[in-house]
Amino acid sequence: MAKGTVAYKILQSHLVSGKLIPGEEIAIKIDQTLTQDATGTMAYLQFEAMGVDRVKTELSVSYIDHNMLQTDFKNPDDHKYLMTVAKRYGIYLSKPGNGICHQVHLERFAKPGKTLLGSDSHTPTAGGMGMLAIGAGGLDVAAAMAGEPFYLKMPRIVGVKLTGKLPDWVTAKDIILELLRRLSVKGGVGKIFEYFGEGIKELSVPERATITNMGAELGATTSIFPSDEITRAYLRAQGREHDWIELLPDPDAEYDEIIEINLSELEPLIACPHSPDNVVPVREVEGIKVDQVVIGSCTNSSFVDLTRAGKLLEGRKVHPDVIFAVAPGSKQALELITQNGILLNFLKAGARILESACGPCIGMGFAPPSGGVSLRSFNRNFEGRSGTPDAKVYLASPEVCVAAAIAGHIIDPRKLAEKEGIKWIRVEMPERFPYGDEAIIEPLSEEEAKKVEIYRGPNIKPLPEFDSLPESIDGVASLIVGDNITTDHIMPAGAKILPLRSNIYAISEYVYHYVDPEFVSRAKQVRDSGRANVIIGGENYGQGSSREHAALAPRFLGVRVVIAKSFARIHHANLVNFGVLPLEFVDKKDYEKFTLGDEVLIPDLIQRLQEGKEIIVVNKTTGEEIVCKYNLTPKQISVLMAGGLLNWIKNKQKV
Ligand code: SF4
Repeated sequence: MAKGTVAYKILQSHLVSGKLIPGEEIAIKIDQTLTQDATGTMAYLQFEAMGVDRVKTELSVSYIDHNMLQTDFKNPDDHKYLMTVAKRYGIYLSKPGNGICHQVHLERFAKPGKTLLGSDSHTPTAGGMGMLAIGAGGLDVAAAMAGEPFYLKMPRIVGVKLTGKLPDWVTAKDIILELLRRLSVKGGVGKIFEYFGEGIKELSVPERATITNMGAELGATTSIFPSDEITRAYLRAQGREHDWIELLPDPDAEYDEIIEINLSELEPLIACPHSPDNVVPVREVEGIKVDQVVIGSCTNSSFVDLTRAGKLLEGRKVHPDVIFAVAPGSKQALELITQNGILLNFLKAGARILESACGPCIGMGFAPPSGGVSLRSFNRNFEGRSGTPDAKVYLASPEVCVAAAIAGHIIDPRKLAEKEGIKWIRVEMPERFPYGDEAIIEPLSEEEAKKVEIYRGPNIKPLPEFDSLPESIDGVASLIVGDNITTDHIMPAGAKILPLRSNIYAISEYVYHYVDPEFVSRAKQVRDSGRANVIIGGENYGQGSSREHAALAPRFLGVRVVIAKSFARIHHANLVNFGVLPLEFVDKKDYEKFTLGDEVLIPDLIQRLQEGKEIIVVNKTTGEEIVCKYNLTPKQISVLMAGGLLNWIKNKQKV
């Protein structure tokens, strides 16, 4: 039962209902929430629809870090909406340019022993601080701000025992890449990864956060480190020692499973296109020419990453064929490298300095050339995510990135270091960080907040209303997709589409845009004829980001059911939240029994869900009956019946 582990202790102290037995539904109290602008606009529209006067959490922060381009009115409309909505409802606001939500949250708000729910899949970054931080859809976060507990299935708690010591040129990034190599992007589903052992004593809080950040790529519920003296020193340097508590696993803590990594045996690793688990030693892909190299993202752009990368570049030049860019993770990190002179190293080397924001990670203002190779210190390399559909994106540590920027091709940094006489550098924690809170706006008092008028520019459109689940579904298999479909496939990002996140009518025109450009018109035809769209999917359907638009926009197009071999956790929850029924094949071979355009009937749906019976899906075109199961808690079934979480909460408020 994993008693005595750090994760168990936090869950126990926040338990609202249920038993801490793996697989059982539990509800936990949420102390803090975070949103970013790409998911936040919708989350706050939903929060407003709940009719609550002020957030009920201890602390909620709204970050503006994703949609930073201001090429027309759309993103500025969203930003102004977010700024006024934060003022109105008692929420902290981190202005555009202040940094990436996870990095800033770690620096300024994360607290050991607390719970955090964020409308971004990399929310577990705060686990580096000993916080139980979970990524969820915006609607779940809106519900938490309205005082609702967060419901989840109790995960298994996996202990990751770190032994030995990292060799020079091997870093925290290689630890998480090694786990991805071993376990794959599905290996963490239904699990919390808790790190322990001698090896953690060598890792600073930002390094721990690199590991917990990319735990999201394993599909894990979250990842966590204990809160120890290293955590305390970090908080002290942030002027927040009062937020520290010691939180260690008991000496007899029992994990549901233990994985051991001997740090001494690791070497520099790299994830090849197009999946973060496609991991090999860097030496195996040496020689591949790179067009661009970027250091940044919520994974590796802390002061530790930037300082070491900048020191390695000192007195050197970026290869003439390479564009090398640096996006500091936060204004604090930028201020620090300005003070310690590292910024000058980047400038003198010929680097391009980008804003403290997500930027290249989602193709916002910095994308690879056609068919180009981009090496990044980021966490995701799904096809098309960079903004260039045929780019090849590799992921590695900032040190591997710098080595390639100098050499012009992928190279094991140990080899380059030997050739050029570059020495490995240990980065010491500063005694005191520049806090960099100038662009964080504090909440107003209750009285002042009530006077605030919320700004709604033309890019802010009202939420569509959805009906409840019908007794039977008459539909059409309007899309059939394969394994590992990501939320980027379903609802692409990029500079053209992201600004439409607060306008569901416009953004729904891009659902599955790069996979099947005909899908939207087909789906509309089916919807407008009064029938339901049914999507047939493979394994791990909906992996990747927490973006709820990947559930909301298909629902708007009339998708009522997704039948897949298996689902990724957050997307499964998002489908339920928007009233889309996620069904799984009992026999995975039945996936083959559907062809595009097949007529589908699902009879006695509500009755069977309520009785806990398997669902029979009739393929009317072939006459075959396919048996499907579902992984739904009683609460999720009632949410589905209501037509989604918003309807469910409104119904609850009426009672
Ligand atoms: Fe931003 Fe990329 Fe991190 Fe998402 S993964 S928060 S887009 S930097």
